[in-house]
Amino acid sequence: MIPALPLRIDALRGARLADGTPVDVRLDGPVVAAIEPAGALDGEPGEALDLDGFVLLTAGAEPHAHLDKALTFDVIAPPLGDLPSAIAAFHTYAITSDEHDIADRARRTLGRMLANGITAVRSHVNFSPGPDPLAGFRALQRVRAEFAGLLDLQLVTLPADDTVDEVHEEAFALGADLVGGAPHLWPDPIAATDRLLDLAERVGVGADLHADESLDGPITLGRFAERARSWSLPRSAGHCVRLGMLREDELAVLVEAIRDADIGIIGLPITNLYLQGWDSPVATPRGITALRALIDAGVRVAAGADNVRDPFNPLGRCDPLETAMLLVTAAHLTPAEALHLVGDGARDVLGLPPAGPRVGAVADLLAVRADSATEAIAFASADRYVLHAGRLVAASVLEQRVAVPAREAVLTATETGAA
Ligand SMILES: [Zn+2]
Repeated sequence: MIPALPLRIDALRGARLADGTPVDVRLDGPVVAAIEPAGALDGEPGEALDLDGFVLLTAGAEPHAHLDKALTFDVIAPPLGDLPSAIAAFHTYAITSDEHDIADRARRTLGRMLANGITAVRSHVNFSPGPDPLAGFRALQRVRAEFAGLLDLQLVTLPADDTVDEVHEEAFALGADLVGGAPHLWPDPIAATDRLLDLAERVGVGADLHADESLDGPITLGRFAERARSWSLPRSAGHCVRLGMLREDELAVLVEAIRDADIGIIGLPITNLYLQGWDSPVATPRGITALRALIDAGVRVAAGADNVRDPFNPLGRCDPLETAMLLVTAAHLTPAEALHLVGDGARDVLGLPPAGPRVGAVADLLAVRADSATEAIAFASADRYVLHAGRLVAASVLEQRVAVPAREAVLTATETGAA
């Protein structure tokens, strides 16, 4: 039976680490106090979780979400299509959406994320095109307060090119953490990049830009790197799809600039595989940034899902293991690299303290029923326990019955040709 949550946990027993080692884990409030051989904590008093049959990972962090857009696909019923068509479809809906609607969808999305093991989320927030441009910020500030103690939520502004700086700056009084924006979509992408970075410097908050989200459009990341090279403010960029299409020599120069400026790069496979490549029905390019080159160069890299069930991505499970699966399948990362990008790597890019099953780390943990870390990605079992700062915040117990045919029965059917 699942206990009432949240629940402070003192020990995790019998879990396997990602490398296969069976361990017991002692927690001391919000941090991991000790990792012992499995069985070492048997019989100790306190609240313990039996994790025999589970793999224990760092909890997921979603580094790039759009909680204000999530779960609108079925209401909007847009035609399937590329980024410009998704922007147009959402714009029409957003004019009528209000603070209550945004908060409601954000709550439901965060609930799914938490259930699947995500304990930190960074969401971009649009300025509403309706009469109340700051409705999204008020909604998400309220939802952040409601989820305090369950997950960490960061908010990034996502202005349109006609959002005036005075309105943009008001978002920071309403709890926005970082300047965002999609300068590659504005009429002068380099001037737009400068305008956004100027604002970040003026407000003193850092920037997380939507960068170069097209297969053949402008490149703003070079300018971001040039400007951020002397920054001590937080800095990251999402999408960066254009990098995946560059010639190797062009890419090498840009990747080096990104590394020297220490810009964290956030790849978003599910949404960009969906949005990009509609005009290439054969040999369709994969809309994923150049993850291998970035990793090999030592750039800090994260991965997330971006949109969930809205005009930008009709599907999505709010599941870090879904993103990890796509990183292996579509970006050719190793399973260990994939798990890093949706866990430790994402936390690093979000500026959060280290977490996971290691002594001294924050006890933000995800236990998934699986025999190995790779199997956890492959089967993505719904059987999961999720801890945030040492407290159990989600537990899912799967009851499943399968009428597996007896071997003899299968043989008989085959022999008689009935199969
Ligand atoms: Zn985005």
